Amino acid sequence: MTHKTPQIVDQHGRPHTYLRISLTDRCNLRCFYCMPEEGIELTERAHIMSLEEIISIAKTFVGLGVDTIRLTGGEPLLRKNFAFLLEELSKLGVTLKLTTNGILLDKYFDLFEKVGLKKINVSLDTLDKAKAAFITKRDYFDRIMLNVQTAIKRGFEIKLNVVLIKGTNDMEILDFIRLTKEENIQVKFIEFMPFKGNQWDWSKGVSEEEILQIAGEHFEGVKALENGPHSTSKNFRVAGHLGSFGIISTITNPFCSGCNRIRLTADGKMKNCLFANSETDLLSQHRAGVPLEPLIMRSILDKKFSRDGMDLKMDAGHYEQNRSMIAIGG
Ligand code: SAM
Ligand code: SF4
Repeated sequence: MTHKTPQIVDQHGRPHTYLRISLTDRCNLRCFYCMPEEGIELTERAHIMSLEEIISIAKTFVGLGVDTIRLTGGEPLLRKNFAFLLEELSKLGVTLKLTTNGILLDKYFDLFEKVGLKKINVSLDTLDKAKAAFITKRDYFDRIMLNVQTAIKRGFEIKLNVVLIKGTNDMEILDFIRLTKEENIQVKFIEFMPFKGNQWDWSKGVSEEEILQIAGEHFEGVKALENGPHSTSKNFRVAGHLGSFGIISTITNPFCSGCNRIRLTADGKMKNCLFANSETDLLSQHRAGVPLEPLIMRSILDKKFSRDGMDLKMDAGHYEQNRSMIAIGG
């Protein structure tokens, strides 16, 4: 596969080659840390990118050197005609990845194999069925677990995303790491992050330091692994385990220096950072026939070095202006 030289470079010299596209702001779960209690106002269909628009905008990014596209949401597998979209995106010659809650995975395994989509992140915050119902406000646990097991058996590269919340699932840290003993999966512990309406309070969060302390007290030989240049997680393996675990410490120890990510919301707005309040409306400009390249370049030049400039206290005045996570896509 030949890729274009990366052209989307920010003021800090970081080439941006990784596009995360949100396909929808709808979801079949209601995870309390993601979806505000009162719900969100769903975007009118007319303002959501059509499949053709997604493909066309994605092509523009690929022309500027993007070599990896992750599909996310809301729940990306809820998007109508998802199969058509994936087949078309697979013709762009990029690495395709997916983040999903896992409920609908079984419908698409054959397609993923056909188009070569191997890397799938599944959100799974607990190994306990009753707790899953509490966190997600829905009852799909058995189906998700079955789909995860099938995905592993079929050879997909599975990462489990676990958002840790004190008093809810922090007592399961060791159980999740135990899963990596026999299975070659990666468990990604994610520090609880603030977004509009998610009642963020860091006293509910579990830090990288706490996770490592718990792991280190229980397992002998927790070894740090080498992190890729664009990794946002710090990765570890317990001696003798097939799989590994990683920590995304966005709050206590952000890992932004190698950031290569660009986000595109389902309504076609480019965000140069997960926490960026400013957005560039690519969809309206695309519909008006305006070339997108200069807009993309301008947006990336505005990118701050870390977390859109928020300090460690994570200013509520800042993140309450952002979208809810469900409308960004993680
Ligand atoms: N529905 C899909 C899923 O759940 O995987 C994709 C979208 S979801 C918004 C993407 C990721 O964001 C999930 O792994 C989820 O756990 C994570 N996430 C959502 N809200 C979060 C928060 N407040 N802090 C940290 N991670 C969060
Ligand atoms: Fe839906 Fe994913 Fe958000 Fe849960 S984390 S509410 S599954 S978008």
